[in-house]
Amino acid sequence: MKKNTISRRAYAKVNLALDVVRRREDGYHEVRMIMQTVGLYDVLTFTGREEPGIEVKTDKEELPGNESNLIYKAAKLVMDSYPCCGGIKIELEKNIPMAAGMAGGSTDAAAVFHGMNELFGLGMTVERMCGLGVRIGADVPYCIRGGTALSEGIGEVLTKLKDAPPCFVLIAKPDIDVSTKYVYENLHADRLDWHPDIDGMRAAIENGDLYGMAGLMGNVLETVTVKKYPVIEAIKSAMKEEGALNALMSGSGPTVFGVFDDEGKRSDAFRKLKGTGLAKHIFISEWA
Ligand code: ATP
Repeated sequence: MKKNTISRRAYAKVNLALDVVRRREDGYHEVRMIMQTVGLYDVLTFTGREEPGIEVKTDKEELPGNESNLIYKAAKLVMDSYPCCGGIKIELEKNIPMAAGMAGGSTDAAAVFHGMNELFGLGMTVERMCGLGVRIGADVPYCIRGGTALSEGIGEVLTKLKDAPPCFVLIAKPDIDVSTKYVYENLHADRLDWHPDIDGMRAAIENGDLYGMAGLMGNVLETVTVKKYPVIEAIKSAMKEEGALNALMSGSGPTVFGVFDDEGKRSDAFRKLKGTGLAKHIFISEWA
């Protein structure tokens, strides 16, 4: 008998490098980013039911399961595209901090495509899911694929890369929420005097060169977010003082991730950050 309930993990991402090439006439920004999934994830449980409709339940009061939730939007898009689906209940266990620069909403939407595809046996290819996913958000196609990837265009043009070299990762989010919209609106893409070397990082990853990769980590959105929230720089410094090869803000922030070649140094950095109170959430992780 076909299973009526399935669960899926939705992994968070960090940007090993993030460049904004230009602002397009239509207001979107053209980006070049090296994306990487990390071992921090939400869990979505899907239950098929006879009565039609979509019910989304979350375990966070501040995140309603209504039409504004990206999970709901993705489920609606799948149902409109495949009217043969019955009704569905989707329950979310939210572990990824919100408004953090870790694509928490996009990865939940991505999990809906995978989950409904499996539950209802829709036979969607990854390309088909990505084609639908980009209508929800530019990062959704990447979240559908996961792993290490170069992301271009508005984020939807993806090139799979070799897995990033293994290392020890520390993730820390200060007690502030950052709106991605605010950061892009305040970015002067035409006045940036520095750009990360995306092609150099791509080569370092292809060569399995952890030190080369860490040395090239960079994010132009720090020019906006770090200026407004100096705590981000303080977290980066704390990680580097404890031996991180490098530390960087992810996406539009404010989450910082540090890359270590030594588990002990990462533990020291974890303890130091706990002691300073600079971060509200701290996670030990690896690439996923
Ligand atoms: P990105 O890295 O893609 O910019 P983010 O990590 O900065 O994303 P999200 O956590 O994805 O930000 O969420 C931004 C806003 O989207 C939230 O404040 C919330 O109101 C809304 N949202 C809708 N659905 C979800 C969801 N399933 N999970 C998280 N946020 C959601």
